[in-house]
Amino acid sequence: MYRSAIIPMTALLLLGVSCSQAPDAASKGEPGKAKGGAEELKYGIRVQSGPMDSILLKDYKPASSLVVPETMVPKAKYPVIDIHSHTFMNGIKTSEDVAAWVRTMDEVGIEKSIVFTGATGADFDKQVELFKPYASRFQLWCDLDTTNIDAPDYPQRAAAELERCYRMGARGIGELSDKGSGLQSEKRPRGQRLHYDDPRLDLLWKKCAELKIPVNFHVADHPSCWQPLGPNQERTPDFQHFNLLDKDVPSYEELIAMSDRMLERNPKTTFIACHLRNQGNNLGELSKAMERYPNLFLDISARDYEIGRQPRAAAKFLTRYRNRVMFGTDMGRDKEMYQGWWRLLETADEYLPGRVWWRLYGLELTPQVLESLYRSNALKILNWEKL
Ligand SMILES: [Zn+2]
Repeated sequence: MYRSAIIPMTALLLLGVSCSQAPDAASKGEPGKAKGGAEELKYGIRVQSGPMDSILLKDYKPASSLVVPETMVPKAKYPVIDIHSHTFMNGIKTSEDVAAWVRTMDEVGIEKSIVFTGATGADFDKQVELFKPYASRFQLWCDLDTTNIDAPDYPQRAAAELERCYRMGARGIGELSDKGSGLQSEKRPRGQRLHYDDPRLDLLWKKCAELKIPVNFHVADHPSCWQPLGPNQERTPDFQHFNLLDKDVPSYEELIAMSDRMLERNPKTTFIACHLRNQGNNLGELSKAMERYPNLFLDISARDYEIGRQPRAAAKFLTRYRNRVMFGTDMGRDKEMYQGWWRLLETADEYLPGRVWWRLYGLELTPQVLESLYRSNALKILNWEKL
């Protein structure tokens, strides 16, 4: 019989961890130093000062001595539909850029990319022209018109522009983003912003349902953005400019609740919450939302570090909701970026380098789950109607 899943108390004491100390050691200021700068026993080791004391957190890049299998996956197991990419972020300005992107897509196994143009009006139409030579490889989505949101005709105007873009080829709207400052582009005081649950958007959501146009929405941001930039900040300093604590924005919870109300009031509209709705840190809570709102779908873009740090829970989640979660990148268009995703999702490799300080672990998804995530959900859920 396998016996020792639980570490006996004596072993914990040998490790120098006492019950009263263990849970909140990190929150007690400088670990390793007792008050007055004296040395302290930490996990049974006498912590001493040395050259590493002056290394800045942002410069700490430990070299791993771990020797484990490394499985390179040059091409995805199934032809992939990447449902989250951006013209701007992917540096697409000319037809040569589009051609180069297609070459990379061929190499790594991306059949189609959904492109968020971030545009309406003439700018959107221009992008339709840009992608035309490769129309079968891309699906273009338009943005939300947010000009003059206080005018009484705003709801009608926004819906009409969406319909116009649809006729030009748009097959979705997004990525819309509200990290607290609102969906409108100009800065506005609180109370005058356009949030997801604003009644002025109801007509637009209805129009999306009518045209079978899914909405890709970003709500709030990673929860660590509402935590202090200090010794207990969860993410690496590279992410510190995203911090929202003490900024003039609603709380993480308030923002999530706004999107709940939007989902609730518009059951016929297909909403795709990107980045696992910024709840990838708490798959239990996210599951509750999935149960509550059948019109809620997800993309996993830019949350490699969430699923990769909890590979067993994440694989279970992706299996349970295998009909409602889709693959997306949102991380540019480098060959290595795509291949990193294949390794994370398809293999059982361990201790993969990630973008945050922690390492990732392969999810080894089953062929069925992989196929739904990579393509069949997108084929079912997205609108593929020809012009
Ligand atoms: Zn994005």
